[in-house]
Amino acid sequence: MTTATELFAMARGREIRRGNKRCFYCGAACDNSISASLWVKKTCAIRQYVRAPGSDFVCCGCAEAFCEKTDVQVFNEPTPRSSTRVRLWSWVISGGEAIAYTKKNISTLQEICISPPDGEYSIALSESGQKHILWLTPVNSSKEIVSVALEEEVIVYLPEDLKQAIFVAEHVSAATGKKALIAPLFSAWMKVEKYYGDTNWIEMWEKINGAPISRLAAWLCRGKKECSDDFKGK
Ligand SMILES: [Zn+2]
Repeated sequence: MTTATELFAMARGREIRRGNKRCFYCGAACDNSISASLWVKKTCAIRQYVRAPGSDFVCCGCAEAFCEKTDVQVFNEPTPRSSTRVRLWSWVISGGEAIAYTKKNISTLQEICISPPDGEYSIALSESGQKHILWLTPVNSSKEIVSVALEEEVIVYLPEDLKQAIFVAEHVSAATGKKALIAPLFSAWMKVEKYYGDTNWIEMWEKINGAPISRLAAWLCRGKKECSDDFKGK
C-alpha cells in the first residue's frame, strides 16, 4: 500500500525503495538505507501514533517529507520556492504533483476538499506549521468518502456534508469572523442576531459544532470580509 509520504516523494521525482523493513513513521515497506536515527529525535513526542515504533529505519518518502531545507512548488507561483520546510505548508498530492498551499489559498482548498481530484490523492492541512503531518495523512482513492489530515487529526467525511457545514460556518463567519466558530461566546450570538435579525445560523452551527467535520469546516471557512460579501445581513 502506498503511503502519503511515498506519493509525496514520487511526485517530487524521488525513487521509492521497497524492502523487508518497515518505516518507523508511516509503516511503508522500505529498505535499510535510511536510519531512523537521522530523522527521529530521542524525545519524539508522537511515538504513540507512529506505525512501526520498533523500527530502526524510515522510508525515503518520510525522509523527503521531513526535509527542513528543500524546494517547494507553491500553488499559483511561477517557480518553486527554495530552502523552505515541508511542514510549513498545507499539501495536496495528486496526479503526480505535490503542491503547497497557504491559508491565503483557503477558497481553493475548500473546492479541493469538496470536489476531490481523480485517482489516488492525499490532503494535509497544516494549522501551526510546527508539526510534520504528511506521514500520518491518509491516501484516498475514493471521491465519495474522503479522509484528510488537519494538523494531527485525521477527519473522515462525505463531501456533501462538508459543503453544508462550510455553508453554515460561512454564514456565521459573515457576522462574527471565523475565529468565533470554535467556541462561540454569547457575544457571537449577539453579533449573528444583529446581522441577520435572528440566531438561526448560529443555532445550526451549534448543532454540528464539536464534531470532527465542524473543525474541518471552521478551518476551511473564509474570513469575515469575504463571507459578508457573499452572505448579506438584513
Ligand atoms: Zn515512511
